[in-house]
Amino acid sequence: MDEFYLCAMRRVRVRFAPSPTGGLHLGGVRTALYNYLFAHQHGGDFVLRVEDTDRTRFVEGAEQYIIDCLKWAGISPDESPAHGGSYGPYKQSERKELYRQYAERLVIDGHAYYAFDTPEEIEALRERLKSDGKENLQYGHQSRMLMKNSLTLTEAQTQELLKSNTPHVIRIKVEPGINIKFTDLVRGEILMSTDTVDDKVLLKADGMPTYHLAVVVDDHQMQISHAFRGEEWLPSAPVHVLLYQYLGWESEMPCWAHFPLILKPDGNGKLSKRDGQRLGFPVFAMEWNDPNLGLIAGFKELGFLPQAFINMLAMLGWNDGSGKEIFSLGEMVDAFRIDRVHSHGAKFDFEKAKWFNHEWIMKLEADELVSYVLPWYEREGYDISDKDVVKNVITMVKDRCTLLSDFIPQSSFFFRKPEVQMELINGKWNEKKTAFFKTLIEKWIAMDAWTHEGLEHSFKAIASEMEIKPGELLLPLRVMLVGGKFGPGVFDISIILGKKETLERIQAALGML
Ligand code: GLU
Repeated sequence: MDEFYLCAMRRVRVRFAPSPTGGLHLGGVRTALYNYLFAHQHGGDFVLRVEDTDRTRFVEGAEQYIIDCLKWAGISPDESPAHGGSYGPYKQSERKELYRQYAERLVIDGHAYYAFDTPEEIEALRERLKSDGKENLQYGHQSRMLMKNSLTLTEAQTQELLKSNTPHVIRIKVEPGINIKFTDLVRGEILMSTDTVDDKVLLKADGMPTYHLAVVVDDHQMQISHAFRGEEWLPSAPVHVLLYQYLGWESEMPCWAHFPLILKPDGNGKLSKRDGQRLGFPVFAMEWNDPNLGLIAGFKELGFLPQAFINMLAMLGWNDGSGKEIFSLGEMVDAFRIDRVHSHGAKFDFEKAKWFNHEWIMKLEADELVSYVLPWYEREGYDISDKDVVKNVITMVKDRCTLLSDFIPQSSFFFRKPEVQMELINGKWNEKKTAFFKTLIEKWIAMDAWTHEGLEHSFKAIASEMEIKPGELLLPLRVMLVGGKFGPGVFDISIILGKKETLERIQAALGML
């Protein structure tokens, strides 16, 4: 039975395994999303494992931030440091004690060795080899016998150093000439040689495992059936496959998939957090206070709906082949196929991201949309006590909004008297128009029912009596009510503003002419 068939038969358990080193970048959320879709599609489990073994890159608050981002995006895990689960702890620093036994087992079995070289000694060897014309030689099969490790020292010397607590690491012993073969669900058959693979450190001097050891031990212990991650990890795959073999877990090795990179808009390399600042678009899901770059707004703060954000992300590297672009999370769960994930990088396009958001603003049910817009109105201090008014306003202006932030300029005149751009009226003004608006005010004051039909009917009747084209009067009316040349239909606006406010605005503008 081949390894692919074996992993396909297991209960689906996938994991998103970020390192808490900073803001959650687009690419990270997409990896989480594809894992989530795959898990839900197969009725499996989606695990969040925090890979915090590199204490030098650890950033306070990053773990909670990752959990918050997944929650906002609607793709929360089933098991995590926050949610618990039967395979915990889900934070590698809390599993520290677990890893050493495996590293030592590998040493006993001859697949790993203790290395006592100080960083200075390694540097000195590099320099020496460089002068011999061996540029960039790594710690591996070509150099390990020149170093201070349990392969070059006697057993007694090694034991002596260990007993005296001499700082040391454990390295995997990678023999050259081994062909590593595995099936990648995105890239197909992968064949890699160990010739250029170095002897990666498995256990560090501080007793912490490196990513390579921890990822294999944890995926195995947590019974991960499918390991999906970014393509930057493809070169490390041979080390992981070897570890599965050496630890005797080969038959339980997960199925792999390496997702393509999200590229800069010009296709020139991986999208970085600095690109966002340079090119003026977000790269993080939510606001992140970066130690070097300061406070960086995320998609959320810029006014993206989470539905649009994950829809856009899903399409950066996958489609269902039908040309359909708008998917809800539930629809994606049904339509997603791991073998339809592209193997080449996808260029990030901010205009397209905004297009998704606009589509989702149009698509959401009114009540749901209101729940997303309300915090924006609240922040502006708008009176949102009348829920029907708020819902009407939002429904009326939504087709003019690309981002949730657009609801402010598009609807502020409903909540506040606008600054009227009189120059838009002044140029083509005449006495006849003054007379029209005076008559209109009288007519509207006398109107019993304040209805769209009533307002429109009287407006047109007076215009025709005075022989003025309604088109010449609608723009001034709009400017008087809204402040500028935009917004939904003027009679609809008047209905929401109400009689008193509508008449006050017309009167105030007439007074300024
Ligand atoms: N900790 C790794 C990262 O942050 C995880 C890679 C993996 O999923 O195996 O990219």
